[in-house]
Amino acid sequence: MSKSSATELFPNTSTVVKVAVPVPLARSFDYACESAPACGVRVKVPFGNRSLVGFSLGEASESKSNYQLKPLTAVLDETPLLPQPVWELLQWAADYYHHPLGEVLNHGLPVLLRQGEAASYKTTEGFRVTAAGAEIELNSLRQAPQQQRLLAALRNGPLLRRDITAQEFSASALKALQDKGLIEGFQHAPQTNADWSFAIGSEPLQLNPEQALAVAAIGAASKPQTYLLEGVTGSGKTEVYLQAMADVLRKGKQVLVLVPEIGLTPQTLRRFQKRFAVPIVMLHSALTDRERLDAWLDAKNGGAAIVIGTRSAIFTPFKRLGMIIVDEEHDGSLKQQEGFRYHARDLAVVRGQKEQVHVILGSATPSLESINNVAQKRYAHLQLTQRAGGAKLARQTVVDIKQLPLKAGLSQPLIEQMRKELDRGQQVLVFLNRRGYAPALLCHECGWLAQCRRCDAYYTVHQRQQMLQCHHCGDQQRLPRQCFDCGSTQLVGRGTGTEQLEQSLAELFPDYPVLRIDRDSTRRKGSLAKLLTDATENKYPILVGTQMIAKGHHFPHVTLVALLDVDGALYSSDFRAAERLGQLITQVAGRAGRASAPGTVVLQTHHPEHDLLQDLIHNGYAAFARSLLRERQLTQLPPFTQMALFRTEANDAEQAQLALQAIAAQLPQHPDVIVLGPMPAVMERRAGRYRFQLLVQSQQRGLRQQVLQHTLAKLEQIPELRRVRWSLDVDPQDF
Ligand code: ADP
Ligand code: ZN
Ligand code: ZN
Repeated sequence: MSKSSATELFPNTSTVVKVAVPVPLARSFDYACESAPACGVRVKVPFGNRSLVGFSLGEASESKSNYQLKPLTAVLDETPLLPQPVWELLQWAADYYHHPLGEVLNHGLPVLLRQGEAASYKTTEGFRVTAAGAEIELNSLRQAPQQQRLLAALRNGPLLRRDITAQEFSASALKALQDKGLIEGFQHAPQTNADWSFAIGSEPLQLNPEQALAVAAIGAASKPQTYLLEGVTGSGKTEVYLQAMADVLRKGKQVLVLVPEIGLTPQTLRRFQKRFAVPIVMLHSALTDRERLDAWLDAKNGGAAIVIGTRSAIFTPFKRLGMIIVDEEHDGSLKQQEGFRYHARDLAVVRGQKEQVHVILGSATPSLESINNVAQKRYAHLQLTQRAGGAKLARQTVVDIKQLPLKAGLSQPLIEQMRKELDRGQQVLVFLNRRGYAPALLCHECGWLAQCRRCDAYYTVHQRQQMLQCHHCGDQQRLPRQCFDCGSTQLVGRGTGTEQLEQSLAELFPDYPVLRIDRDSTRRKGSLAKLLTDATENKYPILVGTQMIAKGHHFPHVTLVALLDVDGALYSSDFRAAERLGQLITQVAGRAGRASAPGTVVLQTHHPEHDLLQDLIHNGYAAFARSLLRERQLTQLPPFTQMALFRTEANDAEQAQLALQAIAAQLPQHPDVIVLGPMPAVMERRAGRYRFQLLVQSQQRGLRQQVLQHTLAKLEQIPELRRVRWSLDVDPQDF
């Protein structure tokens, strides 16, 4: 008797397979099958009334009665889809971030693979002539002119079905020729990156001594490790990456490069393409699902030498991974803030250990976490203290704006300084991290402020569109003409956004065109790259931008950078605010200047005497960061304590709070574990929902992990949690 008929007769004798399903439940599910697909093979399963793609976790060891079990719908892969190190990385991440394995595995895949598509390049159907078709007299088909023309066309070479259709041949003509044996179909595989051999595109630069030391240290290391490459802006970190990579590529190994979310990728790509004549693929948000899968396959099959991607690229499989580089390792976009919350930099370090490859974390403004890891000797330290090519670092100065009149946020001393630079033919960059016209709409008669109806936040005025817009929930309203409270028509924008700044600058400096770069001016795809290119050329002497321009891009003609308002961060309740301010100021300052025209940075503040500001200006980011780190140690904040944050969200504030109380009740008491809350989130109401949080922290990471695991195991039973949206954020970055 064959095995399958035995299964039908005696369902309980068939095998049970454990499957990780992409649902928010922290366990696997059992299914019946003839024989269990290998662990790591994708399967399709019925789940409730849906059909889901999950991963086999192998045969269930404890053989339960499986009368009730539904069978697998389909087995999607012949062999495990992911190479062992990626599989292990995902398991590790599910464990560490306490996120359901099924969702983590799902997250690690390109969309098409999540949907069950085959892990192969898409083949398309083509047609070519057979031997008979090549010989036959074309004239013998003159009764069927369509067939005659089609055969003639195919005699010139094979055609894809879609090209045949495009040339307006009918399907019946195609079929008729096929039935007569004059043509045949075949599967056409698209051109993929073939195996490559290493070749230099352009010669490497002559390294300066610090760069040479860094490259040599990486090359000479006897075992794989993590490096923090701490190099001031413009110090030539990229050149260090390129030369360290060259050694790896020369051995036929592949390199993964992670970059921050936006803007940088085209520029980075160009530099890499210029240096290396090897296949380079990009993984970024503008790809179609098919392009993304093809790039993923190129990495997996070894056809791509270099993969450049944003945070989720950390899960890309490689055939022969040789090195991981994380550029701008301090950048917030490396942390996934929704769903499966992970930090791509931290996973890069874990992956490096699993794959036994070097990991290089690079930044001009490293995170305090990484600086601490250097101090703890977990990472090796490489330093570049000089700008490459002889350019000087910008000089930083402070303008005390207490009691000074401001025009669109600009003080008179700043305006004069700008004029001087502009008249000398230089470029000026004004940084303001608030897009829109004004961050609030105020009634001049009664003091009413237009508040978002769904958030604890004010609407931003967008003058050009004549709209009020909430930057937290996206809600939009037409700009009102009258105060909702007193009916007055004296409505004015309060504060300054980039739209207003752009306008005022145009009035102040009518001879100098202004270019604004922010999320509103770059809405269309690809327009950021274009604006950045325009900005580098001197067509626009005045640049206005939000944090979008703080990242990576260099503007060599800029000799003056102004930050209009740095006060908010000086007195923030967020313990990371100072670190971020230091990074922002340093990064923005780093956009300016070159050898022949050194730059100046002007910081406008009401608190020129503030210790942090003084420290940063006089001692530079490296020293500033190290004193912040000492402060964190004294106050027992990360990285000296290990945090995790439970968040809840509900239409009803009390329910959100009750749910957290229920979680708190499950937390085991331990003298070395501190629990804070439940407390309202910084923005208590957002998009109509109330938000609360509960902070768990311990100096011992292991203990924190145990506490979380113990607690999470009980949460499925808690009724209060079913009425709210809740999540756990391990190593939270934002509060
Ligand atoms: P970073 O990544 O540290 O900000 P880059 O790698 O972009 O710095 O280098 C800044 C500029 O200095 C680039 O124009 C680069 O070509 C140049 N540069 C880097 N290294 C050298 C070198 N050794 N000699 C001359 N120019 C260099
Ligand atoms: Zn009013
Ligand atoms: Zn809102």
